[in-house]
Amino acid sequence: MTNTASVPQLTLNNGVEIPALGLGVFQTPPDETVAAVVTALDLGYRHIDTAAAYGNEREVGQALRRFLDRTGLARSEVFVETKVWITDYGYDQTLHAFDKSAGKLGLDQLDLLILHQPLPGEFDLTVEAYRALETLLADGRVRAIGVSNFMPDHLSALLARATVVPAVNQIEVHPYFRQSELLALGAEHGIVSQAWSPIGGITFYRDGSRGSTLADPVIGEIARAHGKTPAQVMLRWHLQQGRQVIPKSVTPSRIAENLDVFDFELTDDQLGAVDALDTGVRGGPEPEQITREAFAYEIPEA
Ligand code: NDP
Repeated sequence: MTNTASVPQLTLNNGVEIPALGLGVFQTPPDETVAAVVTALDLGYRHIDTAAAYGNEREVGQALRRFLDRTGLARSEVFVETKVWITDYGYDQTLHAFDKSAGKLGLDQLDLLILHQPLPGEFDLTVEAYRALETLLADGRVRAIGVSNFMPDHLSALLARATVVPAVNQIEVHPYFRQSELLALGAEHGIVSQAWSPIGGITFYRDGSRGSTLADPVIGEIARAHGKTPAQVMLRWHLQQGRQVIPKSVTPSRIAENLDVFDFELTDDQLGAVDALDTGVRGGPEPEQITREAFAYEIPEA
């Protein structure tokens, strides 16, 4: 069931190409990760987004090897992204965090390595971690580097001290939380915005009290007009606005559905109608309040 129709690529600010759509594996249990990732790769996904903190890098690596061995495709065909957790921030610690992640993934080189969160109360430490990413990039251990959950102030503070402009900022973006100012700042600096919870998972898998994007009537009406699903409409909305998306699913039919978004186009009015759903209310943790004390889990050795 391999899908040969390829996903379009986005070009990062250092010339490296990343598929516009990949598979996220946050909350994918380790014992379900190999199956989800192999299913996705068989269908035609060529980007996997994991993180040291997700506890499933080893299984992502197993899935990748299984797929490459079976198909004979080259390692370079699949874009692998992971994230350094905040307990591993600091120059030497972050260099070692690369060894831990690469070891679990079974890879010598990662396509994209990003800082999972800023530590606003320990920004010097965050910058030291970023300097380690710059070293890993210069040494060819990673092909691109970036950040996640950096708000405008954090991004500006980093840009003032960094040598390498981050290639991506992975941030919460879905119809109920658009972060337009942050998207504009990213665009101004050539930073690709990667949308996490792109179909609004955070609006329904934790606390659905403020409504689920999947059940939104405006999105539902647009979906019906195209003979598509709400999830597909949301993914199209991101893609047509230049964002990279990493929908997560462990369900084969949904993994397939989320990839089947390259045969229709939203009109400007439909894009605007989705934009207008923004509530300005974040679903995930407030980045300004992230501390190592509050999220103190240790990342195991490879
Ligand atoms: P998503 O918006 O991808 O939603 C995932 C949820 O939606 C799951 O419950 C999944 O269920 C369900 N789902 C998937 N596809 C469909 C569909 N077509 N129809 C109906 N339901 C569907 O949210 P996530 O928060 O998981 O974000 C995606 C990825 O972003 C993560 O996996 C991770 O890689 C990244 N992320 C990064 C963060 C960061 O801080 N940098 C924070 C959060 C996420 P099921 O699996 O049961 O099918």
